[in-house]
Order: sequence, then structure tokens, then C-alpha cells
Amino acid sequence: MEPPFWNKEVETLPTRSLKKLQTEKLRNTLEVVYEKVLVYQKKFKETGVKPSDLRSLEDITKFPFTTKEDLFVDYPFGLLAVPLEEVIRVHTSSGTTGKPKAIFFSKKDIENSSELIARCLVMSGATRGDILQNSMTYGLFTGALVMHYGAEKVGILVIPAGPGNTERQIELMKTFGTTLIHMTPSYALYVASVILDKGLVPQRDLKLKTAYLGAEPYSEQTRRKIEEMLNINVFNCYGLSEMNGPGVGFECPYKEGLHIWEDNFLVEVVNPKTGEPLKEGEIGELVLTTLNREAMPLIRYRTRDLTRIIPEPCACGRTHVRIDRILGRSDDMFIVRGVNIFPQQIEEVLMGIKGVAQNYQIILENYDEMIVKVEIDREFFDGKIEKLLQLKSEITEKLRHVILVRPKVELVEPGTLPISEGKAKRVIDKRIL
Ligand code: ADP
Ligand code: ZN
Repeated sequence: MEPPFWNKEVETLPTRSLKKLQTEKLRNTLEVVYEKVLVYQKKFKETGVKPSDLRSLEDITKFPFTTKEDLFVDYPFGLLAVPLEEVIRVHTSSGTTGKPKAIFFSKKDIENSSELIARCLVMSGATRGDILQNSMTYGLFTGALVMHYGAEKVGILVIPAGPGNTERQIELMKTFGTTLIHMTPSYALYVASVILDKGLVPQRDLKLKTAYLGAEPYSEQTRRKIEEMLNINVFNCYGLSEMNGPGVGFECPYKEGLHIWEDNFLVEVVNPKTGEPLKEGEIGELVLTTLNREAMPLIRYRTRDLTRIIPEPCACGRTHVRIDRILGRSDDMFIVRGVNIFPQQIEEVLMGIKGVAQNYQIILENYDEMIVKVEIDREFFDGKIEKLLQLKSEITEKLRHVILVRPKVELVEPGTLPISEGKAKRVIDKRIL
């Protein structure tokens, strides 16, 4: 039996009504930012557009983009569309250098982000009575808190575990009978390997049934590996702080792409170099406009995440658009011998090879060579050199076939590469850029 809907009327709104709703909400959002947000007033004037230039949804392309850099204009409050007294929460995203991006929520924004998470969780089959172990970082990040509030809205019992301390994570799962987990895929791989190393049998010793994995790109192979290791269902969960955090894109039980709630977001995919709109189905940069945000509406926000729109309607009956698994950020791509490579392509190959454990690292020392360090499975590591050489050559050949560059593969013992509890750092780029 298929899981029920949280908000069936909205989730299955006929496309025409959905487009009409989007047009109204978009017009309203454009008017608000033009009136209330200096940054947008200036941008619109420079581009020579006014909110009234929007007659149909397609006219969105006349309006200027918002980039990450724009979030630092009149920082930190420059993009607020409401008085500060109406803001009740701030989140930031990592911003590896300098100031973090600051995202503000009004009371309605918090309620709304919980509504969207509730739709996602119920879509995946979660219900009251489920127990969610939330192992994302609590604090400034959106990852944990936004999921937390949404799960509570459904009536799910939330264990605010936070990341790390794997022994404790497993104890919590056993003690409370955790049924759902929320963490990064790289950490899930690690937790799964520890569970199995301890001799636990997931279907016998744990009650886990579903994992919501996101916050970083991962491949279909990784999903399958985690599903098999833990005997659970893995749902891909995509989001970014600028758009509330988790729950922007979420898989339904068909797992053929991630639905985006279009009554809240207007979805575009553009050519990352030129900003020109792409045809449905073409891979490019995801651009999102908030349609329901009070404190900090964002127009045509350049996510830098690469994906494509899946144009076909989904068998689950939800009319909201789907995007494909995120290929990576445009800034994740690296070049070796003139070939564009995404870390996820490497992961996809590695996770499909028997004998490879959960951890790997890509090291770039010059522009001609890529070193891939791969941890091998404990079971596989029986000391027979020939077996190892065979594995090494299998990895090298399969990678070469996919990325068209022959990597230098180094096999390492299980447990030697750094473990990540949050977002994994897979690529160590030592080249001077
Ligand atoms: P930061 O931008 O500082 O990393 P966020 O926590 O907002 O902070 O991260 C959002 C980014 O994480 C997204 O833009 C995307 O690149 C990545 N991301 C999140 N979820 C997924 C997912 N399911 N698949 C791939 N990438 C993801
Ligand atoms: Zn669906």
C-alpha cells in the first residue's frame, strides 16, 4: 500500500491550478521585494524591470538572478523584507571562508518549512509512532532543526542526537527503537559499517526502516550499498540553507527524482555559464525562487547545484516537479588532463565494486594525475597480494572507463582514511589554482 499524503489537495493540485497559484505568489513576492528590499530595488532598476512586467510565469527570465555574493550586500540584514522584530530565527550555512550566509525566518516561515518537511516525511511512509534519530548538526545549520520541527509536526518522536559518537548513536538506536534516521550519506556508510562490525544484525537487533540522507551528493550505488547493509529504505533529501534547509527536494516511494514543492518554490534550470534557460531535461544549474517566504524572499537564486528537470508526471500522483539526483555543485567539478570530473562519478564506480569499503579520498597534486585512495573491506583483506592487485586493477579500469582518465589507485586498510560525521571532504586539491 502506498503511503498517504500529508496535504493531498496541494500535493496533487492539477498542473494548471499549480501554475496559476505560482503566478499569483510570484507576482506578490516580486512586489514585496521591490517595495521592501533595497538590494532588489536596485537590481530591478539596473535590469530595467518592474514587478508588473511579469504577465506569465515565463516572464521570470526577465528578472535578475540572486547570487551568493548578493547575500552579503548590507550584511547581515540587507535582504530582510520584514522588520527585524518579526524575525524569530537565524540560520547560517558553513561558508568555508569569511562570513557565513545568514538566513532569517519569521514565525510563518518556520511553520511553513515544517509543513514542507511534514509532506516529505509522510510521502516516504513515516507516521505518528515513528522514532526519528536526527543525527545532523544541531545549531546554526538548518539540517537538524528544520527536520526536527517538521517531524514533530507529523507527531514523530524525535531524538535530537546530533552527529558523531557512533557508539552512542548505535546505543540510542537500540534503546529507543529508532525507526528513522537523518544524517549525511558519508556518515551513514560509516555508521552502517560499525553496526555490522559489532556483529549486530540490523533486521534482528534494530528497528530501523528508513534513512533520510542528504546535505551532500551521493550516488545511486551508495544508496544501494547502505540499503543493503542496514536492510532499510534510503530516501534522498536535498536542501540548502538559503531555501529553508532540508526538504526542498525529496524523493517519493518511486525514487525516480526528487519532488520540489512548487507552491513554495519556482524551479528553473539554466546554463551555468550564460544563465540562459535550458530546455526541460537538460542538465544545468538549479535556480530557485521562494514563493512563500516572508522574512527573506529570494528571487532566482543561483544554487550552483547541477541537475535536470524530469518532465514526465510521477506515478505517485504528486503533480509537483521532480529534479534528478544532484550531480554536484558547479564548484565541486575538477579538471584532470583537461577532463571535467565530478567526485560523484568516482563514488558511483567505487561503491559498485565488491571489496571496496565505505571510505575513499581523491587527491590532486598536479593537473595530470589523480590519486584515488580506497579503503578495502575487512572481509576482503586476507593478506593475499594477488587478490589485492586484481582489485586495484579492476578499480583502475572501471574508473578509467567512466571518467576517461587513468587514476593512480592506492588501496588502504579499512579505517585509515578520515571519517566524516557531517559533510565529507572527499577531494584534497593540493594544486595551486
Ligand atoms: P553550505 O552551502 O555551506 O554547504 P548548506 O548546508 O546550505 O550549506 O548546504 C547546501 C548544499 O548541500 C546544497 O547546495 C548542495 O550542494 C548540497 N546538498 C544538500 N543536499 C544534497 C543532496 N541530497 N544531494 C546532493 N547535494 C546536496
Ligand atoms: Zn512521486
